Amino acid sequence: MPAAMETVASLDNITKRYKNGVTALDGLSLNLRRGEIIALLGPNGAGKSTAVKLMMGLSAPTSGTVGIFGADPRNPHTRLRTGVMLQVGRAPEMLRVREHINIFRGYYPNPLPYADLVRAAGLQEIEDRFFGQLSGGQKQRVLFAIALAGDPDLIFLDEPTVGLDIESRHTMWAEIRALAARGKTVLLTTHYLEEADALSHRIIVINKGKVICEGTPAEVKSMGRGSVTTRSVKVIRCTTTLMADHLQAMPGVVAVVSVGNLTEITSEQPEATLREMLALDESLSALEVESPALEDAFLALTSQN
Ligand code: ADP
Ligand code: MG
Repeated sequence: MPAAMETVASLDNITKRYKNGVTALDGLSLNLRRGEIIALLGPNGAGKSTAVKLMMGLSAPTSGTVGIFGADPRNPHTRLRTGVMLQVGRAPEMLRVREHINIFRGYYPNPLPYADLVRAAGLQEIEDRFFGQLSGGQKQRVLFAIALAGDPDLIFLDEPTVGLDIESRHTMWAEIRALAARGKTVLLTTHYLEEADALSHRIIVINKGKVICEGTPAEVKSMGRGSVTTRSVKVIRCTTTLMADHLQAMPGVVAVVSVGNLTEITSEQPEATLREMLALDESLSALEVESPALEDAFLALTSQN
């Protein structure tokens, strides 16, 4: 098998039901390969953090199998090869940045050099500060350095750039790309389309614990435009006397929004929708049909489930 195809981590038909009855993951399967940056993209509550926690062995699936380097995620050797930055990451407030990084380096057999970690996370100015005195974005950067401390082969980053300014965000993106170029696998979760598009080799869109679509950023974009799947989402804009409720019930319609005297209808069967609209409203005017932007395609895809 070529190195690029080597599976590093997998979720196989995973269901995760929490004690409160919430089904956070519902038959989710995914594969992460060597050297890949994968974005797990989805709205709040989609199940992104749950998927990361299962792959970290921090939580057990209700059913299905988790494989990390072909072993159980709780296996100690597996743990030494993974790094993680959790969404609600915490660290003792009364330790300095330098101390945090060195403590974590001490946990691993072959840690990265201290100076490399400081540079990768952009911590040069704040090495001697107490963790508790850092801003939210600075804390995120320390947690990023800690995730990389053991020179892991597989890195989980759960919404890593939340709270970062643009410059820090771009620095982190560059580091993530450099990691993948060295053969590391990075799974990042994000609800920013722009981030998934800019950074990942592959996007897996999930909602309500299910995979909605998956592909390269270009493929995911075109899915909304219908060239990859049979879905052919289009936005129909016009002035019509038809009521929103009526439009919503037409074939293929996934969303209806009125803006002034214009109505915007998102449909995955635009021809059928339009035929019916034209048949029912002879006064229909100002018609435009266009492919949705990535953001809209994504919203249309996630809103149906
Ligand atoms: P995301 O990271 O995509 O925002 P999460 O994986 O955090 O989504 O959550 C998925 C669903 O599971 C949500 O409905 C959330 O409220 C629920 N959930 C997450 N963690 C727990 C938990 N520890 N106990 C009960 N429900 C949870
Ligand atoms: Mg989350």
